[in-house]
Formats: sequence, C-alpha cells, structure tokens
Amino acid sequence: MNTEIYLDANATSPVMEAALAAAVQAMRDGFGNPSSTHATGLRARALLDSVRAQARKVLGAGEGRVLFTSGATEGIQTAVLSALCAVRDARLRGEATGDLLLYGATEHKAVPESLAHWNRLLGTNLELVKLPVDGHGQHLLHILRDLAPRAAMVCTMAANNETGVVSDLDGIAAVLRDSGSRAYWMVDSVQALGKLTLDLSATRIDYAPFSGHKLYAPKGVGLLYVRAGAPFTPLMCGGGQEAGQRAGTENMAGIAALGAVLDALADGGTFRTHAELVQYRGRLAEALCAALPGVVFNADVDKSLPTTLNFSVPGLASRELLNLFDAAGMRVSAGSACSSAAAAPSYVLEAMGLPAWRCGAAVRLSFGPMASAALIDEACARIAMCGEALRRAPLAREAAPVPDQACCDSHALNQAALASLLAEHPDALLVDVREPCEFAVSGPCRDGVQNVPLSCLPEHIDAWLRSGAAPLVFFCRSGARSARAVACAQRLGYVNAWHVAGGLAMNDVALRRAG
Ligand code: PLP
Repeated sequence: MNTEIYLDANATSPVMEAALAAAVQAMRDGFGNPSSTHATGLRARALLDSVRAQARKVLGAGEGRVLFTSGATEGIQTAVLSALCAVRDARLRGEATGDLLLYGATEHKAVPESLAHWNRLLGTNLELVKLPVDGHGQHLLHILRDLAPRAAMVCTMAANNETGVVSDLDGIAAVLRDSGSRAYWMVDSVQALGKLTLDLSATRIDYAPFSGHKLYAPKGVGLLYVRAGAPFTPLMCGGGQEAGQRAGTENMAGIAALGAVLDALADGGTFRTHAELVQYRGRLAEALCAALPGVVFNADVDKSLPTTLNFSVPGLASRELLNLFDAAGMRVSAGSACSSAAAAPSYVLEAMGLPAWRCGAAVRLSFGPMASAALIDEACARIAMCGEALRRAPLAREAAPVPDQACCDSHALNQAALASLLAEHPDALLVDVREPCEFAVSGPCRDGVQNVPLSCLPEHIDAWLRSGAAPLVFFCRSGARSARAVACAQRLGYVNAWHVAGGLAMNDVALRRAG
C-alpha cells in the first residue's frame, strides 16, 4: 500500500524531528535530575527553566504560573481541584459561593468527569450544569448570563476537538464580567495551541491546560497556566518539584521535546500561516464535495480551526467511511479518539442539535500546522479515489451475526498461528471480508485472496463447502468483521473457519508474506 496519510492530528500528532532530537539529547547527555545541585543537575535545571520561560512567552503568561504536567487531563484535574478547594474553604469561612459547576455541553469528557469526581471527593456537592450550545457549536450566552451569577466554576473550551469550533471567549468573558460573576474560569486550550493566538494574562481566564502530544511533542507532557492570584492546590505532593506545585521528578525528555515545539512556535517559519491552513482545508473540502455527493459539513468554516473538517455523508455510516479511508491509507476518525472505540453517535454533534443521521455518520479529518502542500495534494487524490471506488462498488450492507466472544477467541489466529496454519494447509482459502470499495482502493494483500463482503458470505459458503472443507481464513481491517464472518460460517456448517485477530492493521506484513 502507498504511504500513510495521517489526518487525525486532533487525536494526536507525530513527534517533530527537532522535538525528537531534543528528547534524545535530554536522555543521553542531559540526563541529570533538575533537583540535584551538582553540575549535571544544574544543566537539567537550566533546560527546565529555559523551556518554562519559552512557554511563558508563547502563552503570554505574564505574572501567572506555568507548570509542567503529564498532559491536559492532569492540568484539568489540578484546575478543578484548585477551584473546588477554594470554594470549600470559602464556605468554611462562612462566605457565600456559587452553587453551580457550569461546563460547555461539547467539552472533552475529561472536564465533566473531573468536575463530578472532585465535587464528590471534596464533598462540595455543587450542581453540575451543562451549558448548551447552538447549532453552530457556540455556547448560548443568554443562558450563561442567567446562570453565571450562581456559578462557582465555568469551563468552556477554546476550540472543540471533534468539530474544530472556536468558542467566543471574548463573548463569554464579557458575560462573566457584566453579570458580576465570581466564578473561576477554566478554558481547555488543548486544541488552540499552535492554531490560535494566545495572550492568556490579558484575559480573565484562571486556568488553561495544554497537552504536548496534540502539537508534535510526545505523549506524557503538558502545561498548565494559572492566572496570578487564582487559587491553587497541588494535585500531587512529595519532593517539592515545580516549587512544590507538582511533585515528582520532571519528565525531562518530554519537557525538552515540548521546548523544541515552543521554540518553533516562537521563532515562526516551521508552522504554516493561518491563511495557508485555511487554503489547505478549503482544498480538502472541495475534494470531499467532488467525491462524496451530498456531503455536509458540521461546523462553520469561518468559526472553526483551519485544521479541522467534520462532515457527514448521507447513506454512509462513520464506520463505513472510516474503513474505506483506512483502506486507502488515510487515517481519519469518527470523533474523539477516546470515544471512537464506543462507536456511539457523537455527543458533541448531538449537543449541537444536528439530525441523528449526521451524528451517526460524522467523520473528522484533522491535520497539524506543519502540514505540507504535498500531503494535502495526496489526501485530495485519495479522497477522489475513494469516491470513485464507492461509485464503482457501492457498499453491500452487513448481515452477518454478531459472534459470541468464546467462539471468536477460539477461532482467532495471531501472526504465528496464521503462519503455521498456512504452512500446513497451502490449500487454505484466504477471504478478505472488507467491502469491495475498500478492497479496490487498497488492492489485494496477496495473490489468490478472494474478496467477499460480509453480506455476501452465505451464498459463497455453500459453494466452498461443496468443494471440500479446506480451512477458511477470514480477515478484514481490524478483526471485527472477520470475527462475524467466522460466526456466520459456523452457523452455516463450515466449522474449519478462522479469522485473523487484529486484521490488516496488525498483520499486513504477515498476510503478505503468508504462504
Ligand atoms: N481536552 C481536549 C479538547 C482534548 O482534545 C484532549 C485530548 O484528547 C484532552 C483534553 C485530554 O488531553 P491529554 O491526552 O493530554 O490528557
């Protein structure tokens, strides 16, 4: 298969070369503990300080705190814990506080889950209230105006990870100011870094968490901005690192890598300009419109990140389009990576009040600000190829039974088992049960493979049974459809049926080599 086109940057990004080099350097030569007072430690401390200084500059942190964390989920916990401890303490002093925890209906799950968790653990017993959004994903400011005076904390993300919708933070700030709200304000800024201009200390925002792996740094490193004067309670205590604000020996490799990304942001030149990104997104949107008749976009382009497109195609479920794009070597997603395993309709699009079919058919395509014109050219070509494949081989709808887990496990082949079965049975039939359009865009993984989509299996099984009972080996993209194929074959009396666990995604090379 041709090279992989990665268009799932809102889930995570590759690590940029300079970040990789900085991480290796920090592990190999600068391995000191920044708390040590000898020269090796002092060198690590110097690196830590310089990355923090760069972060302060890029975020416009002013007099605020900037802490290194393990990622945004930790930053969110710290912010929520800090705000709720302040509310609890104020109550203990007999002061009046708000009684609501307000969060945008399209927030990442980490936000409502943290609010509920710390509210329960601290016994603050505030009421969690979802702040609704309109059909464009924008917070309903008139509802915020009504509720803000009662809010103890307000959480409104800077930009949504599924749709790319950019929140009206100035509008929210104005409502909080005009309503006299004393609520602490957290803005999950994960998707904003590198795509929107930040000048945090010039705003009323109290807490802003960031995550390195969404912008070319590795997983396991992040930042938390805390406004000067906003309450702060450490999430972890121990050896006093981060000036006692976040204990635990620092992740120096991750911090060094994040430093390289921040340097690139500060220096300019590495990342595409906003106008270039808008142009790239426009080209992808045009390619989608040409390839997929009836496609609708689920966010307004002028109020969303220039790096995200969320769309639905009538008659095509998210999963079907994802499978097709994956077969064409294009990695996209149905929404957030955390919920993609659940295959449920997008709660973000549901909150926007979009029709059920659009929530169940949504596909997100996202790229990073280092995207190149060549990547976009190739993505457009592959989108066209997928459209063509769909026209030539429309989807056959699946009709195979859902397998029971025990049967599925006992008939699953891992790489070694697949190799020995094929060595013992050169007559085994290899059946690719993906849709014909997926098969067409990726091509057969080896000679002799038959392509029979799930819905057409019953009519083939009879013929295969009549011609003898050689082992049948089903495979697909991930192993889900091939497990259903085994269940179908067994139900129809073909017991010598197997499937490749993990599918082509995990066994591409083994399947090509097999036999
Ligand atoms: N907030 C948003 C908007 C995100 O997209 C993500 C990542 O999926 C998170 C929070 C959680 O970030 P992390 O993976 O760094 O914990």
